[in-house]
Amino acid sequence: MIPAAFEYYAPRSITDAVSFLAAHKDDVKILSGGQSLLPLMKMRLSKPEYIVDIGRIPDLDNIAAEVNHIVIGGMATHAQMEASDLLKKSCPLLPQTATTIADVQVRNRGTLGGSIAHADPAGDMPAAILALDAEIKAVGPNGERWIKAEDFFLGLLMSVLEPDEIVTAVKVPVTAGDKTAYLKAAPRSSGFAVVGVAVRLGLDASGDVSHAAIGITGVTDKAYRAERVEKMLMGKKLDDALIDSAAAEATRNIDVIEDINGSVEYRTQLTHVYVARALKAAIQS
Ligand SMILES: Cc1cc2nc3c(=O)[nH]c(=O)nc-3n(C[C@H](O)[C@H](O)[C@H](O)COP(=O)(O)OP(=O)(O)OC[C@H]3O[C@@H](n4cnc5c(N)ncnc54)[C@H](O)[C@@H]3O)c2cc1C
Repeated sequence: MIPAAFEYYAPRSITDAVSFLAAHKDDVKILSGGQSLLPLMKMRLSKPEYIVDIGRIPDLDNIAAEVNHIVIGGMATHAQMEASDLLKKSCPLLPQTATTIADVQVRNRGTLGGSIAHADPAGDMPAAILALDAEIKAVGPNGERWIKAEDFFLGLLMSVLEPDEIVTAVKVPVTAGDKTAYLKAAPRSSGFAVVGVAVRLGLDASGDVSHAAIGITGVTDKAYRAERVEKMLMGKKLDDALIDSAAAEATRNIDVIEDINGSVEYRTQLTHVYVARALKAAIQS
């Protein structure tokens, strides 16, 4: 399958990329790894007149430590995050999540910025960055802004990004002392989550939960935080009974979707099971 014809531009700086986007914003797409955009273009579901390839802008794939944070460039690939010793030590939830994405070929090309900007309701990274309380740096014609992960996703393939804004970086906290896990149920044919659960737990000296953050993907039209579950865990010791009763709340007031991978009832039950499993996996991490 061959995409419709387009004009290709490969700027060497963010400034040039943003100027080009602003000039053509009604009919332009950013190209990062191309793992979501190119299939859409080949199926003619997307027919942009212009493509801005940001892959030649220097240093956009850096993964760097700052005080209490790690900043990951928008062009950092899933494979880079999977292999990063810095992330494994200081923010293991990202490598734990990256390693579950598709196959080696997709992970070698697909990027963090692309995964977030695409806002796929079954994408894995949105769940992880929600559980990490990450912040997303978007650069556009009016300068840069930092967007909280919880404010970023609006719905199916929709985010608060403007068409002339580029995700240049994602800032995540150092979570070295936390317990984290990412688990998903996914059909072998696509690897996309029917349910994906990212867990980040803090335990105090007596083993009580001091903070809990749970991001869920695949279940509704956008990734979300399981706030009811988090509240039920706070200040308590985790045992099987508490985990089970809290996990049952993960889809309360959520508009669970139905598709070829499962009915509402199936997904609801699967979410219950996977939240419980992810909590147990996090405790053992
Ligand atoms: C066979 C296959 C299996 C897959 N399985 C999974 C899976 O299991 N889990 C999963 O999460 N994903 C999966 N993916 C998707 C993969 O993770 C993609 O890499 C990701 O969704 C998009 O990242 P990308 O860099 O390829 O973005 P692109 O495809 O280049 O872009 C995607 C969209 O985001 C926009 N965009 C890209 N970068 C930016 C940016 N920096 N700023 C603003 N807008 C931007 C583009 O204009 C486009 O609209 C799969 C893909 C394939 C082909």
